[in-house]
Amino acid sequence: MTNPIRLRVAVETPQHTGLGAPLDYLSERALSPGTLVRAPLGKRELPGVVWAGETGGEAPAGLRPVVAVLDALPPLTLSWCALVEFAAAYYQRGIGEVALSVLPPELRKLDNAQLANRIAKLRKRVAGALAPAAGESPRPAPSAEQAQALQQLESLGSDATAPTVLLHGVTGSGKTEVYLRAAERTLALGRQALVLVPEINLTPQLEARFAERFAGRHIVSLHSALTPAQRLANWLAAHLGLADMVLGTRLAVFASLPRLGLIVVDEEHDPSYKQQEGARYSARDLAVVRGKREGVTVLLGSATPSLESWQRANAGRYARLRLPARIGGGALPQVRLVDMNQLPKARGVTTAMSPPLLAAMQQRLERGEQSLVFLNRRGYAPVLHCGDCGWKSGCPHCSAWRVFHKLDRTLRCHHCGLAERVPRACPDCGNLDIAPIGRGTERLEEQLAAMLPGARIARIDADSTRLKGALQAQLGAVHAGDVDVLVGTQMVTKGHDFRRITLVAAVNPDTSLFSSDFRAPERLFALLQQAAGRAGRDAEQAARSEMWVQTWHPQHALYAALRQHDFEAFAASQLKEREMAGLPPFSHLAMLRADARTPEAARGFLQAAAQIAATLPGADAVMVYPPVPLSVARVADVERLQMLVESASRVALQRFLAAWLPSLHALRSERKTAEQRILRWAVDVDPLSI
Ligand code: ADP
Ligand code: ZN
Ligand code: ZN
Repeated sequence: MTNPIRLRVAVETPQHTGLGAPLDYLSERALSPGTLVRAPLGKRELPGVVWAGETGGEAPAGLRPVVAVLDALPPLTLSWCALVEFAAAYYQRGIGEVALSVLPPELRKLDNAQLANRIAKLRKRVAGALAPAAGESPRPAPSAEQAQALQQLESLGSDATAPTVLLHGVTGSGKTEVYLRAAERTLALGRQALVLVPEINLTPQLEARFAERFAGRHIVSLHSALTPAQRLANWLAAHLGLADMVLGTRLAVFASLPRLGLIVVDEEHDPSYKQQEGARYSARDLAVVRGKREGVTVLLGSATPSLESWQRANAGRYARLRLPARIGGGALPQVRLVDMNQLPKARGVTTAMSPPLLAAMQQRLERGEQSLVFLNRRGYAPVLHCGDCGWKSGCPHCSAWRVFHKLDRTLRCHHCGLAERVPRACPDCGNLDIAPIGRGTERLEEQLAAMLPGARIARIDADSTRLKGALQAQLGAVHAGDVDVLVGTQMVTKGHDFRRITLVAAVNPDTSLFSSDFRAPERLFALLQQAAGRAGRDAEQAARSEMWVQTWHPQHALYAALRQHDFEAFAASQLKEREMAGLPPFSHLAMLRADARTPEAARGFLQAAAQIAATLPGADAVMVYPPVPLSVARVADVERLQMLVESASRVALQRFLAAWLPSLHALRSERKTAEQRILRWAVDVDPLSI
């Protein structure tokens, strides 16, 4: 071998090694950055990506050659690599770790010949399947407001720098039509569009709508429910430029799109855009970064934008477009608050449904209209209780109750998954009369059946939709009018274009009014607005559509804003509070979490980390708060504590974290005794739940 070439490769180094940067290897021939390879690390052979940039100085002895080159795959682009590198730096993870975690898992398994084979097959299939540019498919003429938004979008797009645009449109205002038209323009220019949605459940519906509009175009989806082979094929179609459009959940923000021309983030406020493990990235935030770097318009849409995005629009950093009215001029549902304090005490507390709400539902039933009742708690009852000895159905492994599921007679822990048959009698004292306390969707369904005789009731939650296809079948029944009352968790409140629902009810939303998480009111408002948005979507029925809220706190400012459908007033008051309290978006947060077998070990680690923090340059620009347990402190016998780090400056926080975290790898391995040892630690930059 004559003078092998030295190159950098981003390999998937485990986080605890602290090796985050690409490593140096040798190769017999020059390889373009972005080429997929396999490289040795210790005794293992790992997939890696050739990375651009200088290898440092004199070649150290013992540098090893890459073992395989997968050049059947055209190299990943420099802009893709740059996005990965940004995400790794920002979220404090290894470059190789992020790169490999966002590539389709199947890529790890194939050798070069197999990969070449898959690519050839895919090319053949795509070439065969597509009728060349089918004629115009039917599409509605844009409303005046949509037309105006589209025109503004176009004029913004012609500026030298690509804009980030916040589309604030009330539920049913036709935001999707704006996405479709914007995508149409992008495709007509020969470029690719990336459309992100928060929930896998919403992808089939949206996919159908996009597929119908863009007949003759190649549209692929990317989400975690695809089979590995499908996911690879779809990813390849995007990477090879065969797909015109990618529709997907948060992981799709990393799709390789050589001709990217537009990014849409639907329901941009949705918390599921935040990844909750590994590199805890926000796909919404990365979409904005990606758009800026690649000179591509980013369209963020929501009826209830995140306060982060809203504030940026206020500050002029995002352009704001508004769709203030529903398509067809239908009114938003009238909001009715039921003051639970006014109900007769004896019955009011235990009855799920207040008499006026029941009467309103009865009326719907008689008119042949649908109602949606929403309760964010699945199962029959959150806890079983023995009145004699005080036993409760706690989970032995978590600091949480096990939930009673009546249909399959189990007690299930929603945190660790432990499921057991319901005991016949109290396990502590033998009392036969153990009773459920509180209510989940199963019980609500049962109570509604008793209170509304003859009504056809359906329930949609994580339990009722476990089987593949179950959700689509249930939604189909609702759309077909085979259901009178739909009971569900927040799953049913998002996105669905129900046409016959004229009443939506939130049975017990108060719990999040007084949460310790400063984002709880923002989330509750968004949830209730979304839920309200499921009612009266048909303009003919809009005038008599209603949103009912049962509450013990009818005077609360949040409900006052909800009554007026006044997102702007709500956002303004929340932002004022946040500014005064120095909370995001007016400050920047990171959360350091430690998991251990005992709370003392986790706390000890965090306290030692805080001591190190105080000695670092730039420590005066950040505030490190004392460690506190998570709201469910113990899960599966693991004790979890966290420590908040705050700074007025994003840059200062980033610099501080980059200096701090390497020392935590060492700290973890130093703490060796059984009392000190922790299982793992992780940092969450811009954490969503506090
Ligand atoms: P949003 O996403 O803002 O809640 P959608 O995009 O789902 O609203 O639109 C609500 C309904 O209005 C849909 O059934 C859609 O097909 C219809 N719609 C949207 N734009 C138009 C239009 N310009 N003309 C007629 N119907 C429209
Ligand atoms: Zn007992
Ligand atoms: Zn448990």
